[in-house]
Amino acid sequence: LSPVHVVGGGLAGSEAAWQIARSGVPVVLHEMRPQRKTPAHKTEGLAELVCSNSFRSDDAMNNAVGLLHAEMRRCDSLIMRCGDEHRLPAGGALAVDRDGFSEAVTANLAEHPLVEIRREEVAGLPPEDWDSVILATGPLTSPALAEAIGALGGEDHLAFFDAIAPIVHRESIDFDVAWFQSRYDKGGGKDYINCPLDREQYEAFIDALLNGEKTEFREWEKDTPYFEGCLPIEVMAERGRETLRYGPMKPVGLTDPRSEREAHAVVQLRQDNALGTLFNMVGFQTKLKYGEQLRIFRSIPGLENAEFARLGGLHRNTFINSPKLLDGQLRMKAAPRLRVAGQVTGVEGYVESAAVGLLAGRFAAAERKGEGANPPPPTTALGALLSHITGGAEAETFQPMNINFGLLPPIAPPPGQRKLKKRDRKPALATRALEDLDGWLEPVPAD
Ligand code: FAD
Repeated sequence: LSPVHVVGGGLAGSEAAWQIARSGVPVVLHEMRPQRKTPAHKTEGLAELVCSNSFRSDDAMNNAVGLLHAEMRRCDSLIMRCGDEHRLPAGGALAVDRDGFSEAVTANLAEHPLVEIRREEVAGLPPEDWDSVILATGPLTSPALAEAIGALGGEDHLAFFDAIAPIVHRESIDFDVAWFQSRYDKGGGKDYINCPLDREQYEAFIDALLNGEKTEFREWEKDTPYFEGCLPIEVMAERGRETLRYGPMKPVGLTDPRSEREAHAVVQLRQDNALGTLFNMVGFQTKLKYGEQLRIFRSIPGLENAEFARLGGLHRNTFINSPKLLDGQLRMKAAPRLRVAGQVTGVEGYVESAAVGLLAGRFAAAERKGEGANPPPPTTALGALLSHITGGAEAETFQPMNINFGLLPPIAPPPGQRKLKKRDRKPALATRALEDLDGWLEPVPAD
């Protein structure tokens, strides 16, 4: 068999290379460090953790990233195995000794007879005779390759910064206060969820934004361009106390059914996934610290008990508009020999990036062996993440996503119950996910 080429030996590329090799297919892993550095990586190790040393919660029954851990372990994930072997005490989280972890990933790949590691930059589209390639070059993809990916998929579908508005679980919104309505009842009339603020609430909200603690850009992120269309909400507030009321918090064309009047200001939320379980706060991209976001956004009427699938942010990043550019097996529609994995696909986080690498590796290996690659069911965390980036997410407003339970199809409540009890919901989703994953992993019996 000729090799699959994996470009980028980070979290996604290392996992992809492992999955390919363990299925008996040769793989060449191209990593540009140490020849060429990124602004964030400090070592030449594979799967270097550039910032925190945490894989976040390890609780499979109550936390979606914990569920993703469990699923990846069942798929013989190298990232999870090395993470477990180099685990540090961190309560319910999986924290790892970053050097030991990276060294273990590097050694496992270097010692595998089907893996060749080449320390070189792939500075443009891979040569045509690489007929199966996985691009896993991460948020700091080298400029030459990023440019080539942009040219292939269309400049409009490659971003160098993200501008993430917080995303809320629909079921945590208080519909005694919030209501569905599109401005001037346009298009079906009920596309947005609206949360009303009176004058006093609006003024308090502006004060909170102005005084809230913000995160700083890193030195090499300082050239972050603030596009006028997606200014952080606190930067808009700094421009004048009324700016938001004439921007994303404009109340016109919306009637609060409780007062039957226009509110002083309105926060709008727009559907974020095809399942209709997640809604994003329109225009609320922000650099407020996470704790501040929770405090300030929960002061908005209707969002007092909001549960956030992800909080807002603004970072240097490199990602493509996957729902537009990728097929269901992570192949570029414009060049199916190229798969994309990791953060470049618009997922965010070490674990999510490795998870997409795991899938890309399995798909590429199956393809090389002439086997059909069936994707994991959307009821699993792996399948839900894949479905989200390759079709479930709104392409027009696509921004990076963490795994969360809102990406999994809801479970119908038992007869006679309107919805599942809150405490039962996550364990039920996780139990179904693990059962369905086991079914997916089972070899299909021969006829
Ligand atoms: P990476 O792990 O970045 O791997 C990409 C690899 O590709 C790198 O080794 C790079 O050297 C190589 N490469 C790039 N271009 C080329 C090329 N042309 N040819 C060959 N090799 C190339 N996530 C978290 O979960 N927690 C955090 O605390 C966190 N902090 C972060 C801090 C910063 C500053 C950044 C930028 C990101 C952070 N992230 C964090 C997100 C994190 O980068 C990703 O979660 C994860 O590392 C992405 O995995 P990846 O495999 O897609 O990319």
